[in-house]
Amino acid sequence: MPAYLDNAATTPMRPEAVEAMLPFLTERFGNPSGSHATARDAKKAIEEAREVVAAGLGARPHEVVFTGSGTEADNLAVLGAHTAAGGRVVCSAVEHHAVLHATQAVGGVTAPVGGDGVVDLDRLAALLGPDVTVVSVMLANNEVGTIQPLASVAALVREQSPRALLHTDAVQAFPWVDVAELAAGADLVAISGHKFGGPKGVGALVVREGATVRPVIHGGGQERDLRSGTHNVAGIAALAAAVQATVDGRAADVARVGALRDRLADGLLAAVPDTVETGDRSRKIAGNCHVSFGGVESEALLVLLDGAGIAASAGSACTSGAMEASHVLVAMGVPADRALGSLRLSLGPTTTAADVDLALAAVPAAVARLRGS
Ligand code: PLP
Repeated sequence: MPAYLDNAATTPMRPEAVEAMLPFLTERFGNPSGSHATARDAKKAIEEAREVVAAGLGARPHEVVFTGSGTEADNLAVLGAHTAAGGRVVCSAVEHHAVLHATQAVGGVTAPVGGDGVVDLDRLAALLGPDVTVVSVMLANNEVGTIQPLASVAALVREQSPRALLHTDAVQAFPWVDVAELAAGADLVAISGHKFGGPKGVGALVVREGATVRPVIHGGGQERDLRSGTHNVAGIAALAAAVQATVDGRAADVARVGALRDRLADGLLAAVPDTVETGDRSRKIAGNCHVSFGGVESEALLVLLDGAGIAASAGSACTSGAMEASHVLVAMGVPADRALGSLRLSLGPTTTAADVDLALAAVPAAVARLRGS
């Protein structure tokens, strides 16, 4: 049986989410913006989903804006807040490109992180000021899994940049941590359905009451005019079902998957010489195992692992023919040769002990083969 260990890239849909979706692909096909019974039925489904998603995020239903992806939610947060207020934008150096590139598009700057991947609060403070209107610090990182101290970030932002809206990208955090609690200090919170057993192409942004953002997508005025476009009713219903299932199962998933992750990381550290674990495990989400191997190229490793039935990912990308270390690892000060030999194994609620056993057999063998040892 192959082992799917790329849950940070996407997850299999939860049966509850598939089931919730199906009626809206068949008989309940209405456009919620209409006024007849078929439309009202779809509208009711959207509003029921909004309540579930709001509860899962510690928000009120009218604060939830459904979007077409996590990327879109992040863009609405950063660009929408910046369009409304002008001023300067600051984000952490380890943000997903959805936030990083949106920040860079409006001339924003990045706040450094330490070797553990945690944003450096002193250096963030030095970048803040009364003219900063948007600050974006993710709740958990997609590559190395580091959870950021968002309450401390929020306190700093309130003090140094009282006009600013604080956005947090909770896309990777939601499966593993209580976002309602940990993101309570943020004005804007983004999630993405496919990272926790929902469908691809649907996300949500919490826009807390009193926070002003302008739309990025203009049109028919859906979602309080913040995200025009006919609702993805099936996707939104499934997103809500996945939110509920995630919240209900989270504590058990964290305990079980966290133990599997620990066995995997400890096993790799013990079995493969010259292996370094990236970041501080005690500050990571339970599903993340990120390591680097000396003298190995990630791309070659991924090919061998794929051949052995393991879906994994690397912390590097091939840009115009040359390998480049990820901006996250560079920001953490991981040396280039180590960054280019990194491996992310991301576990999820469907990961089994057998998946971990397979990885613990295949990864050391693949590394040894690449090292010619
Ligand atoms: N933010 C983070 C932290 C992510 O990991 C991802 C997906 O990889 C996104 C945003 C983008 O979400 P989506 O794939 O729904 O556009």
